[in-house]
Amino acid sequence: MAHYTGYKCSLCNKEYLPASVLYTCPQCGGNLDVVIDFEHLSHKYQPEDITSRNDFSLWRYLPLLPVDDPGGEGTPLHHAGWTPLYSPPQLKRQLGLNHFWLKDDGKNPTASFKDRASAVVVSRAREINAEVVVTASTGNAGAALAGMAAAIGQKAVIFAPKTAPQAKVAQLLIYGAEVILVDGNYDAAFDVTVEAALEFGWYCRNTGYNPFTLEGKKTAAFEIWEQICLELEEDSKPLCVFVSVGDGNIISGIHKGFKDLHALGWLKQMPRIFGVQSEKSAAIANAYFANTETIIPVSATTLADSISVDLPRDGIRAIRAARESGGAYLTVADDDIIKGISELGACGIFCEPAGSTAYVGLKKALSTGMIFEEDPVVVINTGNGLKDIKSAMMAVQAAPIIEPTLKSLKQHLHL
Ligand SMILES: *Cc1c(COP(=O)(O)O)cnc(C)c1O
Ligand SMILES: [Zn+2]
Repeated sequence: MAHYTGYKCSLCNKEYLPASVLYTCPQCGGNLDVVIDFEHLSHKYQPEDITSRNDFSLWRYLPLLPVDDPGGEGTPLHHAGWTPLYSPPQLKRQLGLNHFWLKDDGKNPTASFKDRASAVVVSRAREINAEVVVTASTGNAGAALAGMAAAIGQKAVIFAPKTAPQAKVAQLLIYGAEVILVDGNYDAAFDVTVEAALEFGWYCRNTGYNPFTLEGKKTAAFEIWEQICLELEEDSKPLCVFVSVGDGNIISGIHKGFKDLHALGWLKQMPRIFGVQSEKSAAIANAYFANTETIIPVSATTLADSISVDLPRDGIRAIRAARESGGAYLTVADDDIIKGISELGACGIFCEPAGSTAYVGLKKALSTGMIFEEDPVVVINTGNGLKDIKSAMMAVQAAPIIEPTLKSLKQHLHL
């Protein structure tokens, strides 16, 4: 584990000692960054110390993470992360890109990017002897916490909106978490979770509240560094990373990961980070377009449930991720998000609406001249399509039903 010296508020810059706070800045409510002494680590490690490790999960980055190995070898907890990188030739051709990859985080143990955060938070919970870990979730964060916790017998309580997709609710229940559905949206679930955690002394994983989720999510940047950045040619343009944004914690985590690598001196060129939101849940993009860090809540109605957020809990760091890296924000229409599901499906990749969102954002960036054919691009699919088959079915025509005879088949095929 990497020794960490404390926390620093991303808003007011106040610093805290490791044992003095658990969540957001007591002074201003800002999100806290975990402070790791990378100067020290850069003397201790070379890139090869990481890249030569035989652990093909996010735990290969243990020397750069502020938590201990949680144990649980041989369980899904030790298989979060190190997700596959695809480069489908037909998609590359269609998009007109010379270098294109899709990183499939739907291949995580509970089928979403959220396993990265939950794995690290479960480890943290071990260290502080938390009896119960609780989270609010649109579905995936809860499923990830429930799954990672189940792997090592940690008790978990999950609050989700009663409208969460059935598959996600099924996961929560199957993993044996205590599941409470609230008659309200994600934001309502978030607030009651914070209150319950304080009242009952539960450890709260909430996104954009617990500083350790970011430390898990940054491992995606480490993998992109190993899988792509180290392979890019000397004179390559900077890598462009496309990711969908709800609360803004994934994009902030990816930014943190690249900043960590930069601080170690291991990253030649900072990737540009592009955040993509649905037009119907665009609080962070709105603030980005208005060139401000003041985020005005919206009434989110997108069908991409994983990024349907009224008040983003990590909006400011999320804006900075795009702005400081030379990226940008884009908004896309829900209709196009649905179409994107079947376009990726045609390449053998099945994503939920929030995963398609990042891909559709790339298409918009190409058509509006923000990205060119020589820009190397990676799109992150954040969640598996089986998570939300109702939306998937909107992207396709229903299959025909025929009499099981050759005659009716011929009729159907007009042969
Ligand atoms: C949580 C989630 C996101 C968005 O992450 P934020 O940290 O809320 O911005 C995107 N896609 C999927 C599938 C998710 O589960
Ligand atoms: Zn502060």
